[in-house]
Amino acid sequence: MIQKLQLYNTISRKKEQFEPLNAPHVGMYVCGPTVYSDVHLGNCRTFISFDLIFRYLKFSGYRVRYVRNLTDAGHLEGDRDEGDDKFAKRAKLEQLEPMEIVQKYTLGFHDVMRVFNTLPPSIEPTATGHIIEQIEMIKTIIANGYGYEVDGTIYFDVEKYSKQYNYTVLTNRNLEDMLANTRELGGQDDKHGRLDFALWIKAKPETLMQWASPWGAGFPGWHIECSAMSAKYLGQEFDIHGGGLDLAATHHTNEIAQSEACSHIQPAKYWMHTNMLTVNGTRMSKSAGNGFLPDELFTGNHPLLKKGYSPMTVKFFMLQAHYRSTLDFSNEALEASEKGFRRLMNAISLLPKLSTSEQSDFQIEPIRVNCVNAMNDDFNSPIVIAELFEAVRIINIVYDGTATISSEELDKLKALMSDFVVDVFGLKDEDSSNAELNDVLAMVIELRKEAKENKDYATSDKIRIGLQEMGIQLKDSKDGTTWSKV
Ligand code: AMP
Ligand code: ZN
Repeated sequence: MIQKLQLYNTISRKKEQFEPLNAPHVGMYVCGPTVYSDVHLGNCRTFISFDLIFRYLKFSGYRVRYVRNLTDAGHLEGDRDEGDDKFAKRAKLEQLEPMEIVQKYTLGFHDVMRVFNTLPPSIEPTATGHIIEQIEMIKTIIANGYGYEVDGTIYFDVEKYSKQYNYTVLTNRNLEDMLANTRELGGQDDKHGRLDFALWIKAKPETLMQWASPWGAGFPGWHIECSAMSAKYLGQEFDIHGGGLDLAATHHTNEIAQSEACSHIQPAKYWMHTNMLTVNGTRMSKSAGNGFLPDELFTGNHPLLKKGYSPMTVKFFMLQAHYRSTLDFSNEALEASEKGFRRLMNAISLLPKLSTSEQSDFQIEPIRVNCVNAMNDDFNSPIVIAELFEAVRIINIVYDGTATISSEELDKLKALMSDFVVDVFGLKDEDSSNAELNDVLAMVIELRKEAKENKDYATSDKIRIGLQEMGIQLKDSKDGTTWSKV
């Protein structure tokens, strides 16, 4: 059964009933990374949030085509179509071809996404693979009167566009204020209006990545790639367009302008923005120098980190906040998430060991209903986690023998955990996936059992205490000995 979802639409600034243009099909476009350097944890938060949305839409019965691009050209360092091309600069620095840079950081990005157990998108198009589509779109924008050429560079005419359309529809800013806050055109500026932006940029002879176009050799501006690729794979009008909140004011505003100037259609019915990961209240970013790399976090190899945290702990930490809230990074918060995640995983590992009885002290359906309602209400993962901890409590007291559960309710409990923890959240037990550790511990537990049978309590205690010091707790019961991480 397809769920009725509410989602917060940035463009209307309120929660709306989700009604896809062509249910059960859903088209979702998310702005992907610029693959000129490693992704930091802030970038990961955005992609993990959209993975949650992708997973839940599929879980709810929708058939989703999820397009997430890779920006592999056309991204200048300045925000005014000036400065160096990030890829060229990096290529010089690392003494590589720009396409070697792209390959290196694309593979790195995919590795990180895999470590976080996110699902790959349905299509992952690149800017360099769609130069023709971008040129065609720019030609149409010029033909419709919204683009102009100055010496081989094409600009978008924001003033003309805003006479017919609302340029600030996404952010509701006042155009006059924006103009007042934008630097005046300098002597070297060729554009006509202060807010105009480049669709196509003329190459210099030394520009490493350049393509032939009707306006001479050049390369695309950053914004046009997403307009061209979303239209190509999802149509001129599609359901969801997403990205980090920092993209709304410029990149997405310009995307809407380009698409409307081309096809007269506002491209996405719902605009969704994820909030920022911050460090001491400041947005994590490459330029601010506070961007942890996922590897630094996993190993603890960073001055701000007390220790390393596993990928699933970090993912759980992110899911504990709603995607529209800011999330501040701290050792304390991660330590709390580590404990919470272990409790959840330990409880799940007990599920196959629970015994059932005729009588059930619990009904699982209300918990499932609360989880579904929370996710239907703009993907409220923190509420789902609170509900899952109610399930954890039930598992623990049934395991202790202080409460009973029927086999029917136990089946519901197992399905609840599998649906929300595994399918919707994409969490997995890193310990149980570590088959070698399991095997080694099984052997150690067997040796301890033998020691006890031989009344060699010194050895059996040594094993138990030694494991405890390593953070592994043994628990003896009539059915044998189990282990968990403390
Ligand atoms: P970039 O590679 O800089 O284009 O960023 C890729 C994605 O990460 C975009 O959707 C950004 O909005 C998002 N992003 C960048 N910084 C953060 C942050 N600190 N927290 C969450 N998302 C971010
Ligand atoms: Zn984009």
